[in-house]
Amino acid sequence: MQLKAENVSFRYGNNTPLFENVTLEVNEDEIVGIVAPSGFGKTTLCKILAGYESPSTGEVTLGGSPLPVVGYHPVQLVFQHPEKAINPRWKMGQVLSESGEQDQEILQMLGIQKEWLKRWPNELSGGELQRFCIARALASHTRFLIADEMTTMLDAITQAQIWQAVMEIAKKRKIGIIVVSHDESLIQKLCQRVIRLNVNEKEG
Ligand code: ADP
Ligand code: ADP
Repeated sequence: MQLKAENVSFRYGNNTPLFENVTLEVNEDEIVGIVAPSGFGKTTLCKILAGYESPSTGEVTLGGSPLPVVGYHPVQLVFQHPEKAINPRWKMGQVLSESGEQDQEILQMLGIQKEWLKRWPNELSGGELQRFCIARALASHTRFLIADEMTTMLDAITQAQIWQAVMEIAKKRKIGIIVVSHDESLIQKLCQRVIRLNVNEKEG
């Protein structure tokens, strides 16, 4: 199954467009990096690719069909700051149940300990919290995971552990991974292919 953006442009309200004519394709069995200059609107593009935001013009399709706007999201996003993505009034077990059945294999591969499920979000480190965000995204029968600066805030060891786990799960479950980062060396290390978005797309 292919995730495809065709001539996607986006503007907030009546502002000048953030970017124009972005066209890209990613297959489900691929690990692809996206590199763009700062101020490009990478996070906005990620939301569009996941169906959380509609493009101003152009189209995003998955397997030839438009992305569903409500309900099941076949393209999942994980951001830089896990603490913003997790309800502070829920214990971690509840955070996971929100996405349906707990997928024990994914929890185990991500190194999530049983004991953490009884804790509040503020009782976990950033790396531990990010593992939950990834588990929640991957457990929902997602076809694609978009990692938007997913490990930027983490130390090198945690970063390496998390990526190793994500790559194993992706391979086993045939999930396409899109790595969006300012970190060229990370992208070179992880990705089979790099999509470079540049000023041309930005200026149309
Ligand atoms: P990046 O991920 O490349 O840093 P973003 O997609 O987060 O970029 O944002 C790009 C630009 O769009 C920023 O200048 C930001 O201020 C602006 N922006 C983001 N969200 C909104 C919004 N809801 N309304 C208006 N402008 C926004
Ligand atoms: P819900 O989709 O039911 O509101 P959550 O807010 O807990 O549930 O989010 C579930 C997943 O969707 C998380 O991985 C979260 O990062 C992502 N997500 C939620 N809202 C947005 C949004 N506006 N833009 C991008 N991703 C989002």
